[in-house]
Amino acid sequence: MQTISLNNGVVMPLEGFGVFQIPDAAQCEQAVSDALETGYRLIDTAAAYFNEEAVGKAIQKSGIPREELFITTKLWIQDAGYEPAKRAFQTSLDKLGLDYLDLYLIHQPLGDYYGSWRAMEELYEAGKIRAIGVCNFYPERLADLCLHAKVLPAVNQVELHPFFQQEEALKTMKEFGVLPEAWGPLAEGAQGIFQNETLAAIAKKHGKTVAQVALRWNTQRGVAIIPKSIHKARMVENLDIWEFALDESDMAAIAALDLGQSKIIDHTLPTTVKRLSQLRIHA
Ligand code: NAP
Repeated sequence: MQTISLNNGVVMPLEGFGVFQIPDAAQCEQAVSDALETGYRLIDTAAAYFNEEAVGKAIQKSGIPREELFITTKLWIQDAGYEPAKRAFQTSLDKLGLDYLDLYLIHQPLGDYYGSWRAMEELYEAGKIRAIGVCNFYPERLADLCLHAKVLPAVNQVELHPFFQQEEALKTMKEFGVLPEAWGPLAEGAQGIFQNETLAAIAKKHGKTVAQVALRWNTQRGVAIIPKSIHKARMVENLDIWEFALDESDMAAIAALDLGQSKIIDHTLPTTVKRLSQLRIHA
């Protein structure tokens, strides 16, 4: 397993395990237990996934020393702003049963996220969070935050897979020293990714699977990945990507798959902003 140093020197595994869309507590706890047993050490959850407690239970049961784990959670829009962010952070920490976080991310660039950022900077400086970052910050929002914040975001978690490659956005992240982390690295299992002929041919050539090719591709362009699966065999498969490499022709063939737009969510639409802002995660 490869690791990467964030812009503040904190070392993060380049691959982790995501738990979006596993709202059932027992299933989520089982999935995280299986992932930890498989060898994943980075777990990516969010207040808005409604499963922080289940993640916490699996962590406690695993008996793995805390310092060997890298736990990420995220602040939802409803809790944007200085005071709400401080409260939401403590709620997440309590649900996870932890006394510090490895990475805390602003989930969406909506609402008073500058207020949230100031709260997160203070928590970071107080040693309660080892690294702070953002999600879904498109280039102009990321540049604005980087230019005006006291602490630079360490990570920007955005949608990145062979059908939505965002090369230009990656350039902005690189310029500011922000690590790109891919959500939906398997295109959420949609868009016929596992049947894609180009990916299947590359997979066959290396004796690997399409999932392994898609994941390996992102890591080879310096992108961290957090694939999700509730199936242990797939967790094993998705982690087994560190002993082969895609060559230049593979990378070029995958580059040609880019559609240049997301088929999952369009953050530029006012209707998306409205829909996300209306999601309430607590009273
Ligand atoms: P994903 O990891 O791209 O894809 C997950 C889907 O692929 C599931 O349906 C899974 O099915 C299937 N799958 C996984 N491995 C497979 C394999 N080897 N072969 C065949 N099918 C496979 O999608 P995601 O969960 O949306 O993204 C990953 C993580 O990113 C999330 O869990 C979450 O932590 C994070 N995320 C963040 C944001 C954000 O706004 N910050 C948004 C979305 C996601 P099974 O589970 O049935 O195996």
